[in-house]
Amino acid sequence: MKYVSTRGLRDLGGFSDVLLMGLAPDGGLAMPERLPTLSPDDLEGLRGLDYADLAYAVMHPYIDDIPEADLRAMLRATYHPDVFHSADITPLTPLGNSGLFLLELSNGPSLAFKDIAMQFLGQVFEYVLERRNEELNILGATSGDTGSAAEYAMLGKARINVFMLSPHGRMSAFQQAQMFSLHEPNIFNIAVQGVFDDCQDLVKEINADTGFKARHAIGAVNSINWARVLAQAVYYFKAYFALKLPAGQQVDFSVPSGNFGNVFAGYLAKRMGLPIGQLVVASNENDVLHEFFSTGVYHVRRAAQVAQTSSPSMDIGKASNFERYLYLISGADGAQTGVWWAEVGGGRPVDLRGMAHWDEVRASGFVGGRSSHADRLETIRRTDERFGRLVDPHTADGLLVGERYARAGVPMVCLETALPAKFEDTVKEAVGRTPPRPERFEGIEELPRHFTVMENNAVPLKAWIAQKLGQALQATP
Ligand SMILES: *Cc1c(COP(=O)(O)O)cnc(C)c1O
Repeated sequence: MKYVSTRGLRDLGGFSDVLLMGLAPDGGLAMPERLPTLSPDDLEGLRGLDYADLAYAVMHPYIDDIPEADLRAMLRATYHPDVFHSADITPLTPLGNSGLFLLELSNGPSLAFKDIAMQFLGQVFEYVLERRNEELNILGATSGDTGSAAEYAMLGKARINVFMLSPHGRMSAFQQAQMFSLHEPNIFNIAVQGVFDDCQDLVKEINADTGFKARHAIGAVNSINWARVLAQAVYYFKAYFALKLPAGQQVDFSVPSGNFGNVFAGYLAKRMGLPIGQLVVASNENDVLHEFFSTGVYHVRRAAQVAQTSSPSMDIGKASNFERYLYLISGADGAQTGVWWAEVGGGRPVDLRGMAHWDEVRASGFVGGRSSHADRLETIRRTDERFGRLVDPHTADGLLVGERYARAGVPMVCLETALPAKFEDTVKEAVGRTPPRPERFEGIEELPRHFTVMENNAVPLKAWIAQKLGQALQATP
């Protein structure tokens, strides 16, 4: 499979090339040059596969530069009950007989759905780097979920170091404890004296220093990584088979969305032939996506206009994976996508009303909705009352909007994107009690913390990274 850029550049290479690439040289995102599809018969043939075998079936057409036995071994190691604490990996739970279902994606090491793709990334990075005799130093910024998923996926991995910037004192107590309690020679936690945007700006500034970047093999694991999107498509298939529907019957999904990576993976599954009807994009107060799907106008918010909400992992004003969606809607027209994204980059609205592209959007099954803090609390409380089930604030947004679009006789699968233990304060505000946490995280706040506080300045930060890498090099025999 060859990969191309959403802005039109061709021949980006194969899967392993785009895995390590970040943005394409023309600033676009990597996409496969075609989307392999499964016939209804092919689909029936996948029924009954366990998660790792299903992952192979869904993913291998996009990964033809890794031998079958090696890819299967990596998927088996990734999607293992010991990692995800469930034989099903992503169990599907009906909520009473409401027609709503919870797809549990958050039983992995960091208690958020990002583990599902990130754990695979840890395996495949190590594999590809070994074959190429290369190293990768991941530099990232996190407000909580991405950082812990990345660190838990990369810990102990050969040829990989992680430098993770987070805003000093601003993550939840649980999130801080989750990251800072790690004590591994290849994980470096840096608490920046500033806010999340400052952390992101530091990452951008360091990446703009191409000399430093090349000298120290600086890379990223952000949500635009194609391998993450691809790995996420698998659980849509898993949920469909768990429902045991008669062949061809449709299913709807509701997805708490921020950067549009998760729900785009659902669209990929749909384009591959999975009979998905609606893809419900659930937003919080930062409702750019909701606005687009209800009006046809995509108008991003600047960082300063992004509200801080109680579903913080969705506080995003510009959904980077949305470019992949526009590319497919345009009929894989890189020039058109480039024009649209230049408007987005300039802070101007992209208006599809009256264009044939808007009909494409309507036909693609996407619908949107938004939720407020009060809605979120009420949904957490009502879900507990109706179904005896505590959910996290992001999952609550998905349930609220999903139920609004639910159709008689069609299952509505709501994606559980984090466990309530990760967002204790909001859950407690809703139901008056602290959500249970998995035993392995009991007392985590009391463990020693390993992090370095640094000022919001790229110069000393670069020197520090270079020094740590020098030490690591000397320690390697
Ligand atoms: C990252 C995240 C989201 C948003 O997912 P996207 O792929 O960015 O749309 C939603 N909920 C939680 C808990 C997350 O960590």
